[in-house]
Amino acid sequence: MTSPEKTGTGKRDRGLLRVDGNECKGCGLCIEACPPKAIHLSEQLNHYGYRTATYNGSGCTGCGICFLACPEPGAITVLRLRHGVAVQQQEVLACASN
Ligand code: SF4
Ligand code: SF4
Repeated sequence: MTSPEKTGTGKRDRGLLRVDGNECKGCGLCIEACPPKAIHLSEQLNHYGYRTATYNGSGCTGCGICFLACPEPGAITVLRLRHGVAVQQQEVLACASN
């Protein structure tokens, strides 16, 4: 899991994005929709031959907008972090998963 480090603005991440590389079709809608620009397209191709969306590793606010923008069921899961830096896997609350 990506650790919730402080971002460049000094704020701690409030969310965490996971993209299922097997479901993503690389349309880029989540990238366009993400307010803090926390997603990019990977150089890696999935089994469909698409470059997949990838979380930058920091900056997610947990807003869920990428989830709403994604047309592929199961491609995006947004986790909201309950606590700051010391958050553990079991302390993460799933708030949006299609
Ligand atoms: S939940 Fe919001 S901030 Fe986080 S990656 Fe998705 S659109 Fe960006
Ligand atoms: S919107 Fe969904 S399918 Fe499109 S690039 Fe993002 S994760 Fe992949």
